[in-house]
This record gives sequence, C-alpha cells and structure tokens, in this order.
Amino acid sequence: MAADSTAKNATALQFIEEMTRNADAVQQRVLAEILAQNSETEYLKGFDLGGATDRETFKSKIPMMTYEDIQPLIQRIANGDRSPILSARPISEFLTSSGTSAGERKLMPSIKEEWDRRQLLYSLLMPVMDQYVKGLDKGKALYFYFIKAETKTPSGLLARPVLTSYYKSDLFKNRPHDPFNVYTSPNEAILCEDNSQSMYAQMLCGLYDRLQVLRVGAVFASGLSRAISFLRLNWKQLSHDIRTGSVNPKFTDPPLRECLARIMRPDPELADFITRECEKDTWEGIVTRIWPNVKYLDVIVTGAMAQYIPTLDYYSGGLPKACTMYASSECYFGLNLKPMCDPSEVSYTIMPNMGYFEFLPIGGGDLVELAAVEVGEEYEIVVTTYSGLCRYRVGDILRVTGFHNSAPQFRFVRRKNVLLSVDSDKTDEAELQVAVEKASKILTKMSVVEYTSYAETKTVPGHYVIYWELMRGGAPEEGVVERCCLAMEEELNAVYRQGRAADGSIGALEIRLVRSGTFEELMDYALSKGASINQYKVPRCVTSAPILELLDARVVSSHFSPEAPRWSPERRF
Ligand code: AMP
Repeated sequence: MAADSTAKNATALQFIEEMTRNADAVQQRVLAEILAQNSETEYLKGFDLGGATDRETFKSKIPMMTYEDIQPLIQRIANGDRSPILSARPISEFLTSSGTSAGERKLMPSIKEEWDRRQLLYSLLMPVMDQYVKGLDKGKALYFYFIKAETKTPSGLLARPVLTSYYKSDLFKNRPHDPFNVYTSPNEAILCEDNSQSMYAQMLCGLYDRLQVLRVGAVFASGLSRAISFLRLNWKQLSHDIRTGSVNPKFTDPPLRECLARIMRPDPELADFITRECEKDTWEGIVTRIWPNVKYLDVIVTGAMAQYIPTLDYYSGGLPKACTMYASSECYFGLNLKPMCDPSEVSYTIMPNMGYFEFLPIGGGDLVELAAVEVGEEYEIVVTTYSGLCRYRVGDILRVTGFHNSAPQFRFVRRKNVLLSVDSDKTDEAELQVAVEKASKILTKMSVVEYTSYAETKTVPGHYVIYWELMRGGAPEEGVVERCCLAMEEELNAVYRQGRAADGSIGALEIRLVRSGTFEELMDYALSKGASINQYKVPRCVTSAPILELLDARVVSSHFSPEAPRWSPERRF
C-alpha cells in the first residue's frame, strides 16, 4: 500500500477513535453549533431560546417534531420563501426521502455544507474495511449505482434522492483518484438516466474488468439481486457485444455511447467464458465464478433487506456481506466498525459529529442523549441537524448492542409502521387498507371478507402478494381481479409507484384468491400456537413459512396487475 494511503487510513481511524472517545463532548459541541448557527431562524425564534445553546435549555424548550408538523414550513421554502425558516444557511435543495407523507416522498431540506459531513463519513469506510480485508487498493469495485428522476419545486429548488444528488455532484464526478475506490462503472454509466442502459453498461464494464474486481455491490441488497437477475436475462447479448467489441444500438444516451466506444474491444475469449458459465444449469455461485477475485459483497442486508440474504448467498456461494453504513436523507448517521461480521451481528456506530442525536425509548419515557442510551434497550432515533431539523423523529427503531469507547452501537431493528417493502418502498397498514378498499369496489356483487399480504422477494424484482378471501360463493369475472391489482397499485404511495413504473425495482402486484374459510383456518392455527381468542386480529402481513404454506395451499387463483401504475417525477407542491 502506498505510504500516503497508509497515512490517510491511519488518520481516518484516529478520527473515529477521537469522535467515539469523546461522544458526549462532541454532541454537546454539535448542538451548540447548530443552535448558534440557526438562532435567528423563524423556527427556533418561536421557542424563545434567548440565545442559549446548552442542552438543558434546548431540552426544556424545543419539542419533538414530525414531518407533518413542519410541512407548512417546507411548503413555503418550496414555494420560494428565502427567509431563514428552518436553517440560517440557504437551502440548496430538497432531498426526497423514501419515507412518504400523504402518499408523496418527504422533502428534507439540505444545505451545501452538509456534503462535507457526508463526505467525511464516506471517507471513513475504506480505512475501516482495510483493517479486515487487505489489498482492496489493488483492484476494482463493481458497484451498481443508479440515479433517479429529479424534479423542481415551484421556486426552482431541486428535489431528488440523496444518492442522486451525490452521484451528480462534483464531489463524486471529479473525485480524486483513490486506489481504494476505483470503480468499474464509468460516471457516464452511473449518470445515465435510463436505468436499463445504465445497468447494461455497468454490467458490461464489470465483465470486461472481471479479474480485477475485488468486491461487488449495490446500495441495498435488492439492487444487487436485480443486477444478477439482469445478467441472467441478458448474458447472451452481453457476450455477443463483448465478442464483437461494438457498441450496442440500445445505447442511445450520447455521453454513454461515447464512453463505451472508448472502453469496448472485441474479446472472444471473454465472450466464450461468459457463455460457458451462464449456460450451465445452475446459477449457484455465479458471482464467484464470473468474478473469482471477489472477497465480499458490499450491500446493506440489515432491516427490510435481510429478506434477500438467502438469494445473495445462493448466487455468491455465501460470500461475506458487508453492511458498511447507516444513513438517510435527513442525516447520515454512522458506520459499521466490523463490516465483515455476520449480517445478524451488524451494529452501526453513530458518529457524534454528524448531527445531534437523541433517543426515544420504545417502552415510553423521556428522550435520552446519545452517550446515555442503555445496552439492550430499543429506541426511535431523533435528530437535530445543521440543515434545520429539530428533534425530528426519523422513524427508525434501533437496539443498543454495546459501545465503542463512549459511542453506542446500534442494531437496526425495523422501520416504524412498515408493513411491506421489497426495495426502498415502505407501505404501512393504513395505505394497504385504503388500497384494498378502493380495489375491492371494482368487485360487483362481491366483497373482500379478509385479506393479508406478503412481500415476495424470491422473484426478481420482488413484488407484493395480497391474499384475498371473497364472500362465499363469489367468482369474479375474467380480468376483474387483474383490474383490482392495478387499482391497488394506483393507491399506493409515490415511492412504490416509482419503483414499479420507472425504476423496475418492484414487480407487478399479485392478488391470490384463497378459498372460503381460509382466514378462519388461519385463526385456528394462531390459536393453536397460543394466541388469545379475545385478542386475535388478522395479521395484515405474514412472513412465517407455516402460515404462508397454509395460505398458498388454499389459493384458488392468482392474478397480476396488467400494467404499471401512474407515476411522474412531477409532484404536487
Ligand atoms: P431515505 O430516507 O430514502 O434516505 O432512506 C433512509 C432509510 O433507509 C433509513 O431511515 C433506514 O430506514 C433505511 N436504512 C438506511 N441505511 C440502512 C441500513 N444500513 N440498514 C437498514 N436500514 C437502513
């Protein structure tokens, strides 16, 4: 390893040590900085802090906020009010969260300086990894990264997901050479707005560089599983293109075409190799067969993404899966200091310099400071950011697993109120209920007696399965249940519809009609397992294998949404 890389890595590790040793003092400083910086904002002035920047005043005067509380303020910023409403610094853009409010992505205000903090967190990832896996500076990373559609607010502020903003930034596009972060995907491929051209190009480049690839990844496990499935569907075309070395006419994006024209060369040997491997009956271990030098998969498999672990294990022959960081549009939180650990053991250490963090005990009680959380307890994370969120409830539930120095480490337990998720979509019980109600109106002379749901991720892309039991004796006419599927999708939130209509990350919704009496049998099963008859409620989402077996054994017919629901990057402001 070059001397300057060694020194840089050592500095990063030392920074982590300093931050985590002084977690409480750093938090106190961060809060004071935020309060001083934003003291003249309309929001903070409303609480009469009188210039105080200490914790006690903050705690006694500032309430927790939810997105709905600040939506009118967000709206004013979106409409062009440039007065200091939430943040003293100008809002540079809105980051659109995958969490939704009234069916639309939440808009998180962001300021330019926040990128320095986010970049700092990114810069710590490889130094941590280098402690466990050596030689990552001697090869490349095959990461499938994509941008999503962006839109503008009425006043011209951009609204887009945080990673889209990052990939489009100079910080990413003009990043200095770093031997630990050499990607096989050229910027032109990542920045191509057409997801399928982007995926094709990224796969092509990953295949050309196959012997240099030391790690394969995507942000979330769902993305990597989709990339492998893409290879499965397109390897013939890919190997044909590699054999001829000519740029496929499917690339219509001019910068991407030009870029590929520079990269592509005829390589019949590689084409033969790909054909041989992909033609085999089994795709088990395909990742290590094609990329034999891969040491680990770099993907988040915690939280809702855990459902993809068996698929990734199958395709990679059980390669380690590194979950390196925990971040959101609201704030980047922290990193996993033992990235090669088993997914079930992953804990994230929150970096106390990223924002001011408090924790709402799940069992009830007052907000607790970062350094004061207790091992074994579960909390909802609450953030105060430089961009103007004040005691904002993120909605993630975390469990404290231990401490690194004086900084607590957290297991990601779950996202509050999420019933169904196959990618970054998050559907809650109320949304599902409304969708079922709307869709069932299409059924004439019939009604849905009971329903439940399941996130099916063995298919690629994953899709929602809704089990419906109809009133006894009813049999819908042909095509009607399909229309119900589409009607449900039309009711689901914008993140779901975007995944379906634009990103291809969610497959068509499926309704499985089950025979009469199925939900009674489901109740009998629950009672036999000890549920109380007085308290029994039909679960609106099921995950356990025996219950799914029970349901699937009673399926009379299965129906899919015939087309994608409506979606447009434009939104109501
Ligand atoms: P977004 O609001 O779209 O930026 O997504 C951020 C959310 O994704 C977080 O609040 C978490 O719910 C989830 N998330 C991010 N990182 C992780 C992780 N490492 N493990 C589990 N969930 C994560």
